[in-house]
Amino acid sequence: MIEALLELIAPHHCYECQEIGSALCDSCKYNIGSDAFSGCIVCGKPCRNGVCRSCKTYYEAAYCVGERSDTLRQLVDDLKFERQKSAAVSLASLLSSVTPIFPAGTAIVPVPTISSHVRLRGYDQVKLTAKSFAQMKTGCEYYPALARNTKTVQRGASKSVRRKQAKEAFLCRRRLSGDRLYVIIDDVVTTGSTIEYAAKCLYDAGARNIAVAVISRQPMKK
Ligand SMILES: [Zn+2]
Ligand SMILES: [Zn+2]
Repeated sequence: MIEALLELIAPHHCYECQEIGSALCDSCKYNIGSDAFSGCIVCGKPCRNGVCRSCKTYYEAAYCVGERSDTLRQLVDDLKFERQKSAAVSLASLLSSVTPIFPAGTAIVPVPTISSHVRLRGYDQVKLTAKSFAQMKTGCEYYPALARNTKTVQRGASKSVRRKQAKEAFLCRRRLSGDRLYVIIDDVVTTGSTIEYAAKCLYDAGARNIAVAVISRQPMKK
């Protein structure tokens, strides 16, 4: 309640240019959106659909706003750790500007956040972004088909540990349609294993048209 009031009263400054108004002003939104990341979201190699042939698994296309740097990193981090819910709307509209028009009936599926993190923050930042995104994309439906299976924590874990944890991370309790497009939403991609297993989970439940849309890419340091 108090938080909602504060959001109304406190003026927002654009993360990029400091102009008063929204968390991200229109011209900065345009600049970031038109500079979208265009390589493979997993390995970074140049390719056409956002995922190269050697990284392609259960999804056919991937969209990404950009590398996790500067403004994008601040927006993602603030939404995650600083309770800046309004950042979700800015992130959703960035995601909207780097994705094509989807077929009518497309399902927007958030990767669910680990439940201990949701309790800590009081909300699931990926779901907030996905909900807002679904409202912006004509004919799309917010469709939270995935649930978390375990309470694993990924931050800081080694690559092999992360892969193993991600494998068992999701459940899909609904039967999905082979004709419908499912677009998986996540905030940060590092190894790509989380979205890979999220996509496999949808595939196992019957989905055959799967795409991925993520805010940012943060490759593992070598
Ligand atoms: Zn600006
Ligand atoms: Zn690749």
